[in-house]
Amino acid sequence: MTDAVVIGGGVIGLSITRALCKSGLDTILLEKNERTGDDTSSRNSGVIHAGIYYPENFLKSILCVEGNKLIYEYAQAKNITHKKYGKYIIANSSSESNKLNFILEQGRKNKVDIFEADKDDVLDNNPGLTFHRALYSPNSGVLDVPEYVTALEGDIQHFGGLISTRTCFLGAKKEHDKFKIHCKSEESFDLKSKFLINCSGLSSERTLKSIKNFPKEKIYPNYFAKGHYFKYSGKAPFSNLIYPISGQHSLGIHVGFDLAGGMRFGPDVEFVDKIDYTFNESLKNKFIQSISQYWPAINSEKLHPDYTGIRPKITKPNESMKDFSIQEGKHHGISNFINLQGIESPGLTSSLAIGNYVKNCLQLS
Ligand SMILES: Cc1cc2nc3c(=O)[nH]c(=O)nc-3n(C[C@H](O)[C@H](O)[C@H](O)COP(=O)(O)OP(=O)(O)OC[C@H]3O[C@@H](n4cnc5c(N)ncnc54)[C@H](O)[C@@H]3O)c2cc1C
Repeated sequence: MTDAVVIGGGVIGLSITRALCKSGLDTILLEKNERTGDDTSSRNSGVIHAGIYYPENFLKSILCVEGNKLIYEYAQAKNITHKKYGKYIIANSSSESNKLNFILEQGRKNKVDIFEADKDDVLDNNPGLTFHRALYSPNSGVLDVPEYVTALEGDIQHFGGLISTRTCFLGAKKEHDKFKIHCKSEESFDLKSKFLINCSGLSSERTLKSIKNFPKEKIYPNYFAKGHYFKYSGKAPFSNLIYPISGQHSLGIHVGFDLAGGMRFGPDVEFVDKIDYTFNESLKNKFIQSISQYWPAINSEKLHPDYTGIRPKITKPNESMKDFSIQEGKHHGISNFINLQGIESPGLTSSLAIGNYVKNCLQLS
């Protein structure tokens, strides 16, 4: 019998496991892959967001703003490579400029540092950029995600938790006050636990369907929104993260960096039926068209396929954006079961705050 079992070893499962172990709970993390952090957690922009875009009462805002502060402190304390690049959100027309007004207002409501950028400052640091007007977010940056994953794993071990990789969660049922959890690594086995937490990302719908008596009407169907990244060879002309005005399902094809200073563009967004990370090289023209709106001097020969990622959405293509879904017993009727779905961006930034949030849901101090 253990205190808690966490399903899924991405940055969310790792952060939750860390928070629970740190509070003294015997916790086991189940991860089906050979290593933790290999799915969505390592297929993203690695950006530490400030928490600007979402309504102020959304968990996406509250946990991102808190997570931004926590993740910088954690990166500092653990010597994780990171850099506060700062980010410009740019408008290229007067109609986009109206959208910037909304973004500025929302950022201020969320109590995020964000202000009108000085055009000369933008161009000094980012020569060749074409824009009409820009906002500046000084607390946006980039984190080395593999180093972050390693640090979380180290903490879990330090606090006495167990990470069981190559271990697939197959199903669970509540028996009196504990969960009987069915798993498979080399062989099948059962675990008993007081608490159960689902943070299996892109598989969360499937996971819920294998939890006995979980109400079907509380399950969000998973939608998969794929994004591609192209890297740019040669010296990066830009020194800041550059984001055009965001679309409905993504923050637009933006300028990002790896921590060696290499520049990349992406992600685009396309809803797909299945989890398939194959790179579609024919998207290059679409990328060039989009990037040249803010950087006309782009040299298309320097743009090369990099990688793809898939957003774990709980919204359909034509629906408006939903918040992170973190359901407790009072929402779905199964006490001591916490269910996370739709942990898309800014999930990486919010991860440590989500760990604390879930710990508090279990009413631990
Ligand atoms: C293109 C893209 C760009 C993004 N950019 C950013 C960004 O710049 N900044 C930011 O803050 N966020 C960003 N995000 C969001 C961020 O990456 C996610 O919110 C975060 O990684 C989600 O982590 P997770 O642990 O929930 O999911 P995952 O990393 O997918 O982890 C879930 C884990 O569950 C495991 N699992 C599934 N089923 C089972 C089972 N039955 N048994 C055992 N294990 C199982 C999987 O193997 C997986 O490892 C981006 C996302 C995408 C797709």
